Amino acid sequence: MKIKRVETLICHARMRNWVFVKVTTDQPGLVGWGEATLEWHTRSVVGAVEDLAQLLVGQDPTRIEYLWQMMWRQHFWHGTGIVRATAIAGVDLALWDILGKVHGVPCHQLWGGPVRDKIRLYSHLGGGKMEDFYETPVDNAKRFAELAIDAVEHGYSAFKSMAVPPTMPIEGNKPVRAAAACVEAMREAVGPDVDIMVDCHARPSPAMGMQFAKALEPYDLYFLEEPCWPESLEGLAKINAAVATPIATGERLNHLAAFRDLFAAGGCEICQLDITHCGGLSEARRIAAVAEAYRIALAPHNPQGPVSTAASLEFGFSQPSYVICESVQNDVPWRYDVVDEGFQIDPKTQTVTPNERPGLGININEEEIKRHPFEQELLQRVFYEDGSVGDW
Ligand SMILES: [Mg+2]
Repeated sequence: MKIKRVETLICHARMRNWVFVKVTTDQPGLVGWGEATLEWHTRSVVGAVEDLAQLLVGQDPTRIEYLWQMMWRQHFWHGTGIVRATAIAGVDLALWDILGKVHGVPCHQLWGGPVRDKIRLYSHLGGGKMEDFYETPVDNAKRFAELAIDAVEHGYSAFKSMAVPPTMPIEGNKPVRAAAACVEAMREAVGPDVDIMVDCHARPSPAMGMQFAKALEPYDLYFLEEPCWPESLEGLAKINAAVATPIATGERLNHLAAFRDLFAAGGCEICQLDITHCGGLSEARRIAAVAEAYRIALAPHNPQGPVSTAASLEFGFSQPSYVICESVQNDVPWRYDVVDEGFQIDPKTQTVTPNERPGLGININEEEIKRHPFEQELLQRVFYEDGSVGDW
């Protein structure tokens, strides 16, 4: 069996362009689907997949590790940059999809079979509507509470909020009080048993991240995400050591050695590897093995398109320390016209039972993709009050 073609299909899904990677084999009807969505870098990723294609065409698609090594190590530059790592991931997912189809089993069966019966999903405030999630101002705690109730009414037992505003490296206590008021309002609205997460989006400095972490600690967050830049391992480690709240990070790391350094520094309790950015399922499985040695939980970053979700779930059914999956279902009203998924979501509990179809278990509607061609992603910029550049 040989790879005949490696191509990308772009589908503009409002906040992001979903970049689907389609690997076609010389066997009739046998194709694999991957995803290499990287918002604001769509053209770069499409080019990177094109650059990788010459390493792949004519090769046996079932030699996944061999091909992964080629993609990561050949062409001299290792696949440690975000664009290359995302392109590799897109291809890698498609190759695992093909291997599952060759053997007639879901991917998680290839990795030792299911380790759990179901996976819990969490949502964002607003359920995928980006304005609700990113643009609800933190001085409107009441709105945070309303959106929290809405998430619970949609069956979610866990949800994530952006209750930490863009903050200068040192900014006094006002943003910290605002964040605490939002979290307090959400906690009062949903009660003690719903899991609340706060994503700091790596906006704070380590010093401010520490203040947010301490101020939010009384509200028993399920996790506090990216309380400072991912580059600041020492900052993450200090915050992680200072509060009982589990610290989550990892969505911007894209190779094994970066995760090794994060874990060794004690920078997190929850690893948010992104399967479409960290070199794919092949590298994700290695990262998970290292995480296991540190007893660090896995909760993949997954706000992208439907192949990313299918891959995150296949991974989760094979990984003992996987705790929850990020889920977006309503980012665009036609999401389920693009994909037909193999797994089942119980809408009452927002839990997923395993896919029983081969590979990643998804069918992609290429005609529907054509209805949503590439558009430039919406510009998102943040400036502090003094006009200097902040983190989005
Ligand atoms: Mg995040």
